[in-house]
Amino acid sequence: MKKESQKDLSRHEIELNILDVFQRSIALIGVYDHNEVLRYTNDAFRSAYFVDPEEQIDWQTLMRRNFAASRGTVIKTDDIESWISSVRSRRGKSRQRTYESDLHGERFIWVTETMRDDGWIIYVGTDVTSLNVSERKLRLANEDLFRQSFTDELTGVSNRRHILGKLQETLDAGQDGWACLLDIDHFKKINDTYGHQVGDDVLTSIAQTTRKAIRLKDSFGRVGGEEFLILFASQSLDDVASALRHLHEAICGLEPVKAHPGLKVTVSGGLTCISPGNTQSQILRRADVGLYFAKANGRAQIRFVKAEDDADHSEIIGSRAA
Ligand code: GH3
Ligand code: MG
Ligand code: MG
Repeated sequence: MKKESQKDLSRHEIELNILDVFQRSIALIGVYDHNEVLRYTNDAFRSAYFVDPEEQIDWQTLMRRNFAASRGTVIKTDDIESWISSVRSRRGKSRQRTYESDLHGERFIWVTETMRDDGWIIYVGTDVTSLNVSERKLRLANEDLFRQSFTDELTGVSNRRHILGKLQETLDAGQDGWACLLDIDHFKKINDTYGHQVGDDVLTSIAQTTRKAIRLKDSFGRVGGEEFLILFASQSLDDVASALRHLHEAICGLEPVKAHPGLKVTVSGGLTCISPGNTQSQILRRADVGLYFAKANGRAQIRFVKAEDDADHSEIIGSRAA
């Protein structure tokens, strides 16, 4: 009898039942949309992360808010922006991700995040506080070391090894996209005029501005002293050029060091495509040719290079040269 009546449930009724079961679950369940905004949370999730029932908050704002109030995720850092950059360099890049998360109040959560192609993510957390404590501490220490291994210490974005690893992963998977090398203009002069510490602040500010400007599915890292690499996931050249134009304007408009409001910076860049069959060094060489031309033609601009012998025809993006 029971079976028969269940058969009669409409799809909509089944979905309502599923939501109700989620709601009552002791697992922490949350769903983020492609803009990282929380679209669904159950009670367990909301009480662990201090989210109001009707609130639509994005992941970064939630992390900042909980960090400021010392609640939710335990975040061991002096610089929340740098921590966010570091986590974002792994978040939303693969279909599935599991990790252990430490919550204030001595709670430990085992998390699985599953991402759909369009960027929606379901977060499912299980409380593992009662499991073996010493093993858990070891795993957390290991995770911390792992995080350091792919993070640039100064700016919090991916380090050289990590961002070049991402490029290789893209090539190995046969995916296309775009690579843009960015180099700060006359950076030596900033160090010489204001000192090395101010130079460091400029690097951090530009890294954070860039990180905020790119989408979650794109990758970004510091490849050398004042040189950065952005990897854009597949999209049209017009879209990538428009994203770079906005970024370029944002960087040129920055006052990167509060104590020196007159200090302005510009960057030059070389953009090229990532095509299946290319090697990593071919892509970096082409981007470097673009960067070279941007520098040689007045700086503060980004040049597109299609092929290595195509430099003369490179297109200017965001030129501020007269
Ligand atoms: P261009 O416009 O041609 O790129 O000129 P530039 O002065 O930016 O380039 P150059 O390669 O001559 O100088 C780069 C400087 O970056 C030299 C180096 O001391 C400085 N630098 C590299 N890493 C760091 C860092 O971590 N912190 C600081 N403050 N400076 C750094
Ligand atoms: Mg340089
Ligand atoms: Mg430079």
